[in-house]
Amino acid sequence: MALPGASGIKLPPFSLPPPHPLGANPSRSSLCTTNAFLRRRCGAFAAVVRCAKRTGKRRYPSEKKRLDRRHKEQLRQTAPEEGGVAREAGFWRLSKLAVPASEDPGKDFVGVSPPLLQAIAKALKFPVASMLPEEAFSVIRKSFDARKVLKEPQFIYTVDVDAKKLLDMEPRTWDFIARLEPKLGAVEYMPDEKVATDLISMLDFHFKGSDDEQGTSYTVNNGSICPPRKKPRVAVVGSGPSGLFASLVLAELGAEVTLLERGQPVEQRGRDIGALAVRRILQSESNFCFGEGGAGTWSDGKLVTRIGRNADGVQAVMKTLVYFGGPPNILVDGRPHLGTDKLVPLLRNFRNHLRELGVAIRFNTRVDDLIVEGGQVKGVVVSDSRLQPCSVDQKLSFDAVVLAVGHSARDTYSMLLRHNVDITPKNFSVGLRIEHPQELINNIQYSELAAEVRRGRGRIPVADYKIVKSIGEGDAKSDTEQVEQNRSCYSFCMCPGGQVVLTSTNSSELCINGMSFSRRASKWANSALVVTVSSHDFKPFQSHGSLAGVEFQREYERRAAIMGGGNFVVPAQCVTDFIGNRLSVTSLPPSSYRLGVNPSKLHELFPPYITEALQQSIIMIDKEMPGFISTEALLHGVETRTSSPLQISRHNDSYESTSLQGLYPIGEGAGYAGGILSAAVDGMYCGFALAKQLSLFTGDIESILGKAQKQTGSVKY
Ligand SMILES: Cc1cc2nc3c(=O)[nH]c(=O)nc-3n(C[C@H](O)[C@H](O)[C@H](O)COP(=O)(O)OP(=O)(O)OC[C@H]3O[C@@H](n4cnc5c(N)ncnc54)[C@H](O)[C@@H]3O)c2cc1C
Repeated sequence: MALPGASGIKLPPFSLPPPHPLGANPSRSSLCTTNAFLRRRCGAFAAVVRCAKRTGKRRYPSEKKRLDRRHKEQLRQTAPEEGGVAREAGFWRLSKLAVPASEDPGKDFVGVSPPLLQAIAKALKFPVASMLPEEAFSVIRKSFDARKVLKEPQFIYTVDVDAKKLLDMEPRTWDFIARLEPKLGAVEYMPDEKVATDLISMLDFHFKGSDDEQGTSYTVNNGSICPPRKKPRVAVVGSGPSGLFASLVLAELGAEVTLLERGQPVEQRGRDIGALAVRRILQSESNFCFGEGGAGTWSDGKLVTRIGRNADGVQAVMKTLVYFGGPPNILVDGRPHLGTDKLVPLLRNFRNHLRELGVAIRFNTRVDDLIVEGGQVKGVVVSDSRLQPCSVDQKLSFDAVVLAVGHSARDTYSMLLRHNVDITPKNFSVGLRIEHPQELINNIQYSELAAEVRRGRGRIPVADYKIVKSIGEGDAKSDTEQVEQNRSCYSFCMCPGGQVVLTSTNSSELCINGMSFSRRASKWANSALVVTVSSHDFKPFQSHGSLAGVEFQREYERRAAIMGGGNFVVPAQCVTDFIGNRLSVTSLPPSSYRLGVNPSKLHELFPPYITEALQQSIIMIDKEMPGFISTEALLHGVETRTSSPLQISRHNDSYESTSLQGLYPIGEGAGYAGGILSAAVDGMYCGFALAKQLSLFTGDIESILGKAQKQTGSVKY
């Protein structure tokens, strides 16, 4: 729906000073000094060498070879010797098994099909695929690869081979198992099947039904649960993924948990979101960001993460989601997603389980303040979020407070600053959301195979894309330009078969995001195109101290609200106009955004360094995905809440705030996660760490859950 013309509200001319090129950021200034030194030595711009930790693709070839050699040696050592009887048991993991898309039963089938048996036979070097018994194999991962470099699109499988079962059912495979060679990334031996378990089964066993009065402790893997004489009282503020998983672990381990959530339970939240979409009524405490399940509830529910899909902690979270009713195929799917329709019942089950454990869940309860005595948090001040702020305060005492408030709790950030909690601004990204007809994206990505998508009901997954572009690298003429121009622009939270939604938490600020249902059946494909911004860019807002990044977000959300003309109408522009710095069309192509779009000069909304980075990257993307620049492609403004603009400092092991004892900042709002999975994992680790400090649990957390994620603060899904 396109609304004709703006409402007459005038947008002030862009007035912010340009970002300061060099500032206090030591890493940037030292980078520039290094570059200047190199230029003096080389007399040209041929190469810029940066001293930074190299990982993944950025490693030197020699380094990669050395690592490969080490991994190969490790693989060889783990496997029993060639021909040895020890090979009659154990599991072999076969990865990168390719099945042409034309032969595969399709995306929803996670069994062992005849063409997959062919691929397995090839990997085992076994001559007759049809003799291999299906029962000996289980599919661990299945993903779709339609890169243009391939002859044809393929499904890629990872399969576990149960050696004992295989040899029992087909003894003629022995020679082949006996000779099987471990190969990096393709063939790996495991003495036992790697079975991750959900958190509840992990912690439940012997503990339930025991006589707590005895103070007996129960051994769980390498740790023990110690039932306390008096249960410690813990408040968890926020029922997003991080708050839910922290509550679950703490309650399972014996704490008396109170979960405080400013928003509504999912049932009422759904009605509030409906009223927003239909009647333009925004509830400031029950919307796309606030309410049970947190920000990701009305979302695409993508369960992808950069903290390592196979990490034990991530697997425990995934299994727990299945335990609460998530579809089991999320454990196998290469790019799993839930969709809003699956998330809502899952959250209801999660809530019921927490209540059964004795967790007191208080919806419509906003934490307005902390009670601090002698540098230690002693409790919280709450109010009914349906009433005016602080109208009826209630003081609640706790032994510890876990803060899991998400990135939109700006009032909570201000409250923390009043208590001198250590907060630092953090890099994040801002930009616009682009929407295309899904069919166009299917055609670009799959060519003739696009016909098989059939709005999520076909054999082939609804097409998506993921793009990262570096802008300006190597072109800079001066150190100043180097800092200003060297930005990344990337696609973020792509929602195939989805819709653009309003994620504002107040009516004078406008920001958007994307969501979809499990089938991804809508006509639209949307994705944020965002550019990295850092504390240099927040300089015009430095009077706001640690909240400068929040003010930066606010500034562009307000500008977007004005450009849209009010009433939650979103400013929009054809991508062809955006890259041409013009507004030639007054009637826009259709959009999935339900509250209306207003033709606007989005190229004037952000400062030039963001607009130009977006324009350049869109042009580059079109080279890789011809058709991306199209008259049907519509840009919507603005996407500002990609991740938290700040980080609340905390100790690495205890998760406790470095500046305020008894406070445990976690999840996306605290700057330690950027997505459903990473937030849940952060909450889970914090739950264990806090339980340990409260003497509810002894033992080594990492030996149960694997290593905790690195606390970079920039984890994004
Ligand atoms: C529309 C949308 C789509 C998204 N899609 C995806 C996706 O597909 N995949 C993905 O991985 N991530 C997605 N995300 C991001 C993801 O939702 C977040 O990264 C994740 O929810 C962060 O979890 P969290 O627990 O840290 O915080 P949140 O989920 O933000 O939860 C914080 C909770 O705290 C409550 N709260 C805040 N302040 C207070 C207070 N003072 N008192 C009491 N309660 C308070 C809020 O109401 C909220 O429920 C999406 C986000 C949005 C908005």
